[in-house]
Amino acid sequence: MQSDTIVETYNEGKKNEKAIFFDFDCTLTYTHVYWLLTDIHQYSQKWGSTLDNIDMNNLELIILDPDWEKYRNILTYVIFGGDERLAQIRLFLQKIKDNDFDIFITSNGNCVDIVKILKFFDLFHFFKGINASMRLPSPDYNCNELPKHRYIDGFAKTYKEIYYVDDDPTENGKLREVKQLIFERRYLNIPVKIEHIGKTDPNVKRYIYFGKNIGLEKDKNGLTIEMLNQIEKYIFDTEQNLENTIESNQISIQTAGKKNDDDTFEKKYIKYKKKYFELKKLKKF
Ligand SMILES: [Mg+2]
Repeated sequence: MQSDTIVETYNEGKKNEKAIFFDFDCTLTYTHVYWLLTDIHQYSQKWGSTLDNIDMNNLELIILDPDWEKYRNILTYVIFGGDERLAQIRLFLQKIKDNDFDIFITSNGNCVDIVKILKFFDLFHFFKGINASMRLPSPDYNCNELPKHRYIDGFAKTYKEIYYVDDDPTENGKLREVKQLIFERRYLNIPVKIEHIGKTDPNVKRYIYFGKNIGLEKDKNGLTIEMLNQIEKYIFDTEQNLENTIESNQISIQTAGKKNDDDTFEKKYIKYKKKYFELKKLKKF
């Protein structure tokens, strides 16, 4: 059942101000799990060649076997690219969680697959919420079922900092609420001294999209260890990279490809971005 209410898995009593949203397929994962578990034949045509020494017929039997434990090694390789990559992802998630980030997944995949994989690889506990728009439910967990971007938009006013990692840049282009708050903050309230952005501001003051700008390619093999390091550098750098934030938004809009329903929104963005740089040139702030 589709619901507009955001599901949160736990409440530790402490309100975090920072959130990071991960796409699942080919971002956190090494391969496209949705296709792997939905249609192995389509999967093998597009992703089969990216896996060394894996026989697609065997893989089909493995994914259909209810006892995944017997195949832990091969599944670790296929789904997460091996032990080393999986360990790095776990370390990264632990570090950002320890640094007061709420961590979410927003995916176009099936809830049942995502929850099964996160639990099997002992990653489930890192996530505060999971959104899976394909709506095949899990017996263990109620995912939200919103379009990917709408899930993030639902948190626009909850967090002061929002980070989004997705191999598909068009998803970043679709965000409305989060970016609107950024525009209001940065451009409509001109002049604002960047270094004086108040910590008490109730609106999101920082949004960074990570995708092509860190080398993450659509439908390829997800985040590498180097990309995780780049993300870490940005998200723990509290004041220095505000201009990179603007640039990363610019990149995402330029690479968004097809026009979506945000046409007017994008025009507004460009207008205020130009204004910002003009004023900056005149040293008004
Ligand atoms: Mg993806």
